[in-house]
Amino acid sequence: MKKKNTVLILGIVSIIILTSVQVFIIRGIWKQKDEMFALRYTIRSQEALNFINRRISSDGFDTVRFVLSKYSEQANKELRALKDTKELDLKKKEILDFYSEVLNKEQDLSGLLATYFERRGYDKKFAHSIAINNLEFLSNDTIVIFRRENFPNQRPGRSTPEINQSKILVNWFGMEDNNYRLRFDYFIDFSDKQRVIFKESATSLAMSIFSIIVVVTIFVIAYRNLMEEKRLSNLKTDFINNMTHELKTPLSTITVAGKTLEMAQIRTNEEKILETARLIGKQSIHLNQLINMILEISMWERTQFELDKKNTDIGELLDDVVESFRSGGGNGASINKKYNLNGLKAELDVVYFTTMINNLLSNAVKYSDKDPVIDIEGFHAENNICIKVSDNGIGIRRTDQKHIFDKFYRASTGNIHKFKGLGLGLYYVRRIAEAHGGEVKVNSRPGRGSTFTINIPY
Ligand code: ADP
Repeated sequence: MKKKNTVLILGIVSIIILTSVQVFIIRGIWKQKDEMFALRYTIRSQEALNFINRRISSDGFDTVRFVLSKYSEQANKELRALKDTKELDLKKKEILDFYSEVLNKEQDLSGLLATYFERRGYDKKFAHSIAINNLEFLSNDTIVIFRRENFPNQRPGRSTPEINQSKILVNWFGMEDNNYRLRFDYFIDFSDKQRVIFKESATSLAMSIFSIIVVVTIFVIAYRNLMEEKRLSNLKTDFINNMTHELKTPLSTITVAGKTLEMAQIRTNEEKILETARLIGKQSIHLNQLINMILEISMWERTQFELDKKNTDIGELLDDVVESFRSGGGNGASINKKYNLNGLKAELDVVYFTTMINNLLSNAVKYSDKDPVIDIEGFHAENNICIKVSDNGIGIRRTDQKHIFDKFYRASTGNIHKFKGLGLGLYYVRRIAEAHGGEVKVNSRPGRGSTFTINIPY
């Protein structure tokens, strides 16, 4: 149990580590792709600007220049006439808003860029934005309308795109006339950026997910194999314990019987000698049966199961099995024969078939905590002979039902010696049914009893 938990915990921890590493790598790749994307479009837009400049000798802000020039002359005068600081501030704000609006609405650069991008097959679904860095009104003196913090006043060099890292800075622009001086940055932002990056990272992403799935699958398979091996090894240990127990009982009876025969008072009593001899004989047969069963099972594993099939009347065969069971180990059980097969015949191996039914009947008696009542039904449906053996015994838990037909499996492992057995009876039943081309199923509820159904095609 401890080992099982350790393996499970180690496996889960390794999977978590692997997943975290993959997430880390993917994030790195994503970041790199994001930067590459920005770099690619910065270069492309520089190329575009040069191209536009060469072709139409414009930077895309000609209309803006024209509108602003006209507006600034009047606005400069109005501004300089104001004395009240409040009014002055209001005017400055109005001027700044106007500039922003004109820059955004009257610029042609976005259209020119989009056309350039489209012609070259690049992504053209971008939104532009303009950030004013510095706006001054000029005359004899300079009135600062707006200046971005940290803006280098002396030489308005290229500003850093710290306004919004996710946007791509295409260029900074400067324009001025007698009335104003303006510096601003022009950014573009791609709405499809995430999708493009996702597409570019899809292979790495898929490989990561695939590797995680592969590792998880391998772990699950390995863990299940380990558990299965553990289960089998437990079964074998149980089997050896039970086997020893089973073999010891007849052996010790024989030993005691041998000792009894040595006693002087017994040797004169012919009846006692006979009784002891019979006991020895019975126990030897039992011992022999046990050993044969084990030998047979190991033989089954190595060679193909060979049947000696004969055309048999199933009703008669069932009668024989039930009657000999009644007179043998099954006395005390009430067995209801509920079959009427109307002389139906099928190709069966009589010996194995008898063993199969016998095993079911003796289990029905063995796993019972009250007076056993057994119903044995038989009928044919389609091309199948169906035989059902039902009891009113202790029943079988659902979790055990899956395994009871496995070799060495015993459901009552907790109380293993309460019901004697080697966990081979139902394994026999399954192997025999399958050798006849059929199958065996169980239907059971703990405390209510069990029904075993054998279907054999004929
Ligand atoms: P064994 O009887 O030697 O343990 P079997 O292969 O015959 O082995 O049965 C496997 C297990 O199935 C048993 O240990 C028992 O727990 C359960 N079992 C089989 N038949 C019955 C039954 N009729 N009622 C309840 N439990 C049963």
